[in-house]
Amino acid sequence: MAYVFDPPRQAALPIAGTDKLFPVHRIYCIGRNYAEHAKEMGHDPNREPPFFFQKNPDNLRTDGKFPYPPGTSDVHHEIEMIVALKSGGRDIKPENALGHIFAYGIALDMTRRDLQGEAKKLGRPWEVGKAFEHSAPSTPLVLAEKIGHPSKGAIWLDVNGKRRQEGDLSQMIWDIPGQIAFISSLFELTAGDVIMTGTPSGVAAVVKGDRLHGHVDGVGDLKVEVV
Ligand code: MN
Repeated sequence: MAYVFDPPRQAALPIAGTDKLFPVHRIYCIGRNYAEHAKEMGHDPNREPPFFFQKNPDNLRTDGKFPYPPGTSDVHHEIEMIVALKSGGRDIKPENALGHIFAYGIALDMTRRDLQGEAKKLGRPWEVGKAFEHSAPSTPLVLAEKIGHPSKGAIWLDVNGKRRQEGDLSQMIWDIPGQIAFISSLFELTAGDVIMTGTPSGVAAVVKGDRLHGHVDGVGDLKVEVV
């Protein structure tokens, strides 16, 4: 059978230092995975465990630009480490989880906070706040076989040269093996899946012209301009 029109381009992330692309299947995002960020959002990390939502694979982009989206006046930055899987399965045990990881990267979980807040209040889904076009500016991926599996080290974000977000990977409430185990208890993970592993505290609004510089020790740097 032929497609009735050309299928959309496969969403993909470049792999640093190669001419290869990592084809993206799904993007799972963890919410409130750093205690200080859970608190700044008005939640008690001891009573409410992390949870997951999704972005769309084609929300990723690596050209260093974030076009300010429509329908909002409060777009927040969330700097996050991302994990790219080379294999998957169901009910993956935490002790086997790292073996499924192909690469790491850094991305921004850009959020229309006003629309997300309205959705929360009304008990509605979060897509309008989280899963819009260009909402996941990202670095190319760096291979786990080159950098290992970062579980501690600084994660921070500067906006126009001023520190806005700061934390340490070791502060994650659910570490990466725990996240993979949890997601695979509810979904079948597969090669091409990407996990955004949560953001430390300090989320705040951006405006057009802002220059964002994110960093994760051992992974690299992400530079993005709001246009
Ligand atoms: Mn996030």
